[in-house]
Amino acid sequence: MTKQRLEIEKSNQQKPKPESDQIPFGSVFTDHMFVMDYDSAKGWYDPRIVPYEPLTLDPAAMIFHYGQTVFEGLKAYRGEGDRILLFRPEQNFARLNRSSERLSIPPINEEEVMDHLRELISLEKDWVPETKGTSLYIRPFIIATEPNLAVAPSKTYKLMIILSPVGSYFTGGLRPVTINVEDQFTRAVKGGTGMAKTAGNYSAAYQAQAKASQEGGAEVLWLDGVEKRFIEEVGSMNIFFKINGEVITPELSGSILKGITRMSIIELLQDWGIPVTERKISIDELYQAYEEGIVEEVFGTGTAAVISPVGEFNWLGKKMVINNHQIGDLSQKLYDTITGIQRGEVTDSYEWTVEVI
Ligand SMILES: *Cc1c(COP(=O)(O)O)cnc(C)c1O
Repeated sequence: MTKQRLEIEKSNQQKPKPESDQIPFGSVFTDHMFVMDYDSAKGWYDPRIVPYEPLTLDPAAMIFHYGQTVFEGLKAYRGEGDRILLFRPEQNFARLNRSSERLSIPPINEEEVMDHLRELISLEKDWVPETKGTSLYIRPFIIATEPNLAVAPSKTYKLMIILSPVGSYFTGGLRPVTINVEDQFTRAVKGGTGMAKTAGNYSAAYQAQAKASQEGGAEVLWLDGVEKRFIEEVGSMNIFFKINGEVITPELSGSILKGITRMSIIELLQDWGIPVTERKISIDELYQAYEEGIVEEVFGTGTAAVISPVGEFNWLGKKMVINNHQIGDLSQKLYDTITGIQRGEVTDSYEWTVEVI
C-alpha cells in the first residue's frame, strides 16, 4: 500500500495554554486533532489533522451500543535543548493493534500512524509543557461508527488522536498510597478483554474504586476473577513486589494488561542484575511474606505515574504497612531512571526514546 497523504487544516483560533501544573488530568485539549476513517471497501483512508472540535455521530453508531472501541495512552516530554521525545511509542501502536484484534477492529498501519502522530505533535509543539514532571498526554483511540443495531462488528471506524497537557502525577514527590484488596468485584478474567485497552474494562472498575475510596483507599488491588487469590493489577497499573531481595510481578495471564512501563522495568532490573520474576503471586503468599517481615517494596507502574509506591494494603480488615509508608530505594531509582530517560537527561542505552523534533 502506498503511503497516504496527510491533509492538514489549521485552526484559525489558538486556545490559551494554561499552566500545566494547575490542570486536572485530561481536562484541557490542544488546538488540533488527528482523524482517519475506515470502511471495509477502502480500508483506513483520509488521514487528516483538523481543528479540535466535537464529533457528529449517528445515535445508532455501534460504539454507543456494544462498546467496540480501543485506546492508548502515551506522553511527549520536553527534554534539554527543547527536544520533544516520545517513550517507546511503537509499543503503543503495536498494543493498539493487539487490543483491536481482541475487539474485532481492523488493524492500522503502525508506522504510518506513527508518522502522522509526529506531524500532529510538531504542529502542537508549543503545547508540550516544560516544567519537570509535566508532559503532553497523547490519546489515540478507535470507535465503531456504523449506524446499525445488529450485534456484529461495525463496517466503519474512526481513529482519532487527541492531545492534552498534563501536570505531574504527584505534586511534591512520590507519595505512597493505601490500597484496598478487592474481594467482590472482578476487573477481568482470562479469555475476556483484560489484556486489551478497551472502554468496558475501566467503567466496570468504578464501583470497586468507589468502595475503596469510601474505605479510605486510593486504589483497588485486583485479584484473579476465578479463585480471587492471585494478584493481577493495582487500579489501572501493573504491580511489582520486592520480597527478600527478589522482584516479582504477576505473569501475563490473559487478564493483565501488558504495560510498557512494566516491560521497561523488567529490562532495567535484568540489566542491573536484580533478580526479577514473572509468576503467579497470591494474596496469601504476600500476607505470609508480610508477616515474616520480608516485603521490602511494592509499587504500581504505568505511563501516568511511572512508579506509584504502595504504602499500605487493607485486606479483609487486615493491614499490611509496606516499608513504613516510605518510598523504597529501588522504587526511587527506577522512577529516576525512567523519567530521566524519558526527558533525555539519562543516557538512553536502550534506544527507547524517539525524537519528534
Ligand atoms: C495502560 C494500563 C497499564 C499500564 O500500561 P503502560 O503501558 O505502562 O502505561 C496497566 N494496566 C492497565 C489496566 C492499563 O490500562
